[in-house]
Amino acid sequence: MKILFVHLGREHLGLEYLSAMLKQAGHSTALACDIGLFGINDNIIINKRLERLFDRSNSVLRKVAEYEPDIVCLSAYTTTLQWCFRIAEAVKEMKHDTRTLLGGTHVTLSPESALGSAAIDYAVRGEAELIIVELANRLAAGESVEDMPGVVCRSADGIKINALPPHPRDLDSLPLPDKQLFERVINIRDDYMTLTTRGCIFNCTYCCEHSVRRLYPPGEYRRVRSVGSLVGELETMYSRYEFREVYFACPLFPPDKKWVAEFAAEYRAKIDKPFYCFSHVNLFDLEYAQLMKEAGCRNIEFGVQTMNEDIRRNRLGRPETNEKIVETLSICERVGLRFDVDAIFQLPGEREEDFRVAIDTFSSFKMLHRIKVFNLALFPGTDLLEHSLTEGRIDENDRMEIMAGGGGDFFHSRQLESGVPLRKQRAYENILRILPLFPGLFSGRPAGGFMLRLMSLLPHPAVRFLEFINLARLRDLRLSFYIRLYARNLFARTPGRLRRDSGTRPGK
Ligand code: SF4
Repeated sequence: MKILFVHLGREHLGLEYLSAMLKQAGHSTALACDIGLFGINDNIIINKRLERLFDRSNSVLRKVAEYEPDIVCLSAYTTTLQWCFRIAEAVKEMKHDTRTLLGGTHVTLSPESALGSAAIDYAVRGEAELIIVELANRLAAGESVEDMPGVVCRSADGIKINALPPHPRDLDSLPLPDKQLFERVINIRDDYMTLTTRGCIFNCTYCCEHSVRRLYPPGEYRRVRSVGSLVGELETMYSRYEFREVYFACPLFPPDKKWVAEFAAEYRAKIDKPFYCFSHVNLFDLEYAQLMKEAGCRNIEFGVQTMNEDIRRNRLGRPETNEKIVETLSICERVGLRFDVDAIFQLPGEREEDFRVAIDTFSSFKMLHRIKVFNLALFPGTDLLEHSLTEGRIDENDRMEIMAGGGGDFFHSRQLESGVPLRKQRAYENILRILPLFPGLFSGRPAGGFMLRLMSLLPHPAVRFLEFINLARLRDLRLSFYIRLYARNLFARTPGRLRRDSGTRPGK
């Protein structure tokens, strides 16, 4: 059976695992991908005009026509749900009997909305590795899949949502991810993406991780791979790709010092490439930081989000104190571990002085690598969405819009009102983005004044250019990853947009 994965965005490990399972069972798989240059999946340069110009929807559909799949599998984030619907509608217009399956985090958290287009035959909730082969086999044999766990389908009584499928309890038992799937779009040699864990132990109210974890029995969702399996994968893949860096794309690098010590020894002995990962300031002490440095960690990313402790604790559900943030960043400084910090804007109740505290705090760290700035966006299933509804910050229509994938995203969302005017937020966002390049320029200055006005006028491309200069100054390997990503994808195929009126929608 021929199965085509269709994806908007960069490399997707989940699809690589599904592809590996299907190939193991004798099916053929391929990928049609629009990496979403200049859109919200770009993460670097976001520009609506350029996004439209380099939209690859037609290339995706051309691939569908060439490959002639029996099944098209789409994976939706909330922000890509409508794109998935449009692609599925165009696929059905091309060949009506192609089966279309929709999976992804959005489906897991908002299964009712996953069948919002008549062009989606079935949606699949949860992790699908243990059911994907049976699903494909049954569809190939023309059998019903409607009783299968994980399946969301239409029934005479409305939408039928089956229980979650069994999930792989032992991550070591999974086959190696099928990296061939993304070889044409991503230069794997620049940056090898894998994971150490699935699931997170924290409860940030704005993040999907806690909402997904709640769907599983206590203690079952978070899983950690063994060091042997992880390093074994890297050894095998190094012989194929000779990658220069490893990117651990899991929510949290394991906090267990015993695991990290074992990993440090094995990884150093057998792989010895710089790596990038995510952590939490509350998990750090000097010993842990030294182990990470010893293992070869080049960069670690912490979510700080705001220096307003009250908002961080009570609205965002993050227990760390400002004191702990400073302590952890100081430890990183002491052991020579570079770090990125995430900051969230558009937070209700945030004050201008919170931005000043952030600037003064971050300016004092030489190991600060990058400040990543996002806007607060509400996603299905999160506590923050429900709290915002209860507090009257959004209404039921807003909630329905978010469920249908029409809400905001991390870059454009203005779903919740911040206490700081937009012009000033823009100035502080620009300052934070370029702060690692000019650490002494902004700290200790009073709010307002010429500098703030100037920074509010700095155009987006100029800010991005300065961020790139900073990456070049720090010899960040991700700079060559981005350059090659753009070079490879900008003119790779004839761009072309999907007709917005293609296909049918319920109610139209
Ligand atoms: S620590 Fe990160 S991954 Fe974990 S719940 Fe918070 S935001 Fe999500």
